Amino acid sequence: MNIILLGPPGTGKGTIAQFIEKTFGLRQISSGDLLREQVKEKTTIGKKVEPIMKEGKLVPDEIILKLITRKVRQLGKTGFVLDGFPRNLEQAKLLDEMLKKEKIGIDIALEISTDEEVIVKRLSARRQCRKCGKIYGIDIKPEKEGVCDNCGGELFMREDDRPEVIKYRLQLYNERTQPLIDYYLEKEKLKSIDGNMHLEEIFDGVLKLLGNK
Ligand code: AMP
Repeated sequence: MNIILLGPPGTGKGTIAQFIEKTFGLRQISSGDLLREQVKEKTTIGKKVEPIMKEGKLVPDEIILKLITRKVRQLGKTGFVLDGFPRNLEQAKLLDEMLKKEKIGIDIALEISTDEEVIVKRLSARRQCRKCGKIYGIDIKPEKEGVCDNCGGELFMREDDRPEVIKYRLQLYNERTQPLIDYYLEKEKLKSIDGNMHLEEIFDGVLKLLGNK
């Protein structure tokens, strides 16, 4: 099974992807994490995308497509859950072409729809582990503040989770990513879950939706 997660930043896509990974044995492919890895390793790509990401802008389509394609190929027959990609119509079409070549299909585009005030609250509380990538927030708190329960790594606040950048990212989502909802609706792949609920309830919704697949 291959899934695309859709929804504005702060809807819990990363956390939900990690839940799907654990529950259904699919692999999370997070475009943001792939890019942050490049920045951390100071690669040519990393140096190019770092200033763009700090401002919350979209990095060029060909860069992110390259990283996603490499990851999909690495996974072979293992199913995946795409988190953060595609983010605009061009990327959705590029993804279709790439998957066609790889003889892979998407089963579900799962939309997590969440109100803006809930998103802002969540993003301001979000922290991520520098070492293993685990995400913490309003619903999932670490036992010891600033320290990852999983691996003891340091928790950090993303630079693009600052309030002024959050506002810009939400606007970008509404303009560029929202049209993807119709794109996958027309392809009869779209399913939606209310992202305003408590995380446990969202997980239940995901289980019901994907469990029958
Ligand atoms: P995320 O962790 O998904 O919120 O992504 C963090 C940042 O990485 C975004 O604000 C963009 O700068 C960049 N990014 C992630 N995914 C994409 C994508 N599919 N297309 C362009 N830029 C992306």
